[in-house]
Amino acid sequence: MNSKLSQEIKAFALSCGVDKVGIAGIDRFNESPEGLHPTDFLPGCKSVIAFCVRLPDGAINASMRTFEDGMYDLHGIYGAYGYVGAPNYELLFANYKIARFVEKLTGCAAMPNTAGPTHGAKMMSMRHCAYAAGLGEFGWSSLMLTPEFGPRNRFGAVLTTAELEPDPMYNGPKLCDPEKCHICEKMCPTGAIPPYEKGSERLVCSGGKEVGYSQINWSKCRLMCHGTRAEFNESGEDIIPRSVTDPLDSELDAINDYFNRNPRQNFHQHSPSWKCGNCLSYCPVGSWYERYGESGISGVNTDKFIDE
Ligand code: SF4
Ligand code: SF4
Repeated sequence: MNSKLSQEIKAFALSCGVDKVGIAGIDRFNESPEGLHPTDFLPGCKSVIAFCVRLPDGAINASMRTFEDGMYDLHGIYGAYGYVGAPNYELLFANYKIARFVEKLTGCAAMPNTAGPTHGAKMMSMRHCAYAAGLGEFGWSSLMLTPEFGPRNRFGAVLTTAELEPDPMYNGPKLCDPEKCHICEKMCPTGAIPPYEKGSERLVCSGGKEVGYSQINWSKCRLMCHGTRAEFNESGEDIIPRSVTDPLDSELDAINDYFNRNPRQNFHQHSPSWKCGNCLSYCPVGSWYERYGESGISGVNTDKFIDE
């Protein structure tokens, strides 16, 4: 394993504008689901270089203004600069540059990957790559938390056949304690994030480190993200009947059917899917109180959702 190459690659990644970068060895993916292992995408892959861009506080502010003040038009700012737009394009170009740099430096293949509107392909989970590369830990919300920015990041990853020196798994203070913190659960408008219950979590193991996160109900989440409920769309009306938007589990089939019949589904990342981001906006990890509470950007008292 080549430490000097790893350092050079990480320094180059940072020079491309990413905010954090780490490297995972291929053994960190031993428990990847079938079809989603790095070698399924790049045969012979030996290392995964994962990185993130942090989302601007001002873009998160736009999401908060929608939710707290009903300024629906501003949610486009969040979509453009805090969700699918600029962060993913930033990652798109960083991926391209990093992959080319790795190939030139090592002579090995390097495959860029990013999320959002820029791919349109089945792909690996960028969050799991970031976890394996030591960038942070999963939160109960299922979002990847970095100590610096909480869940307010976007992730990308370059797969390479080069054998690089890996970074350690994140070993700082535990970032999320869902037994005490209930913010994402309580701020979720549809109950998509269930209350913490020991044993109910989805477990992820990488590099000998295990972490659990909630089994989100994605159908309920999509109701919000696609603005089908009055609270998150500019018409102020429910786009599908409220009886369906406050669903019983038995009604979720009808919701899935709605989305499956919606032609936008074919272009999921190109349709407005940023109407709700409360689990991302209000998570306390990443200096939330300094950035949004004390600064007056948010008027929501999230303290009441944390047990002493
Ligand atoms: S809001 Fe609280 S429980 Fe949810 S992910 Fe963040 S720290 Fe964890
Ligand atoms: S985006 Fe909104 S609806 Fe979806 S899980 Fe987060 S808080 Fe819940």
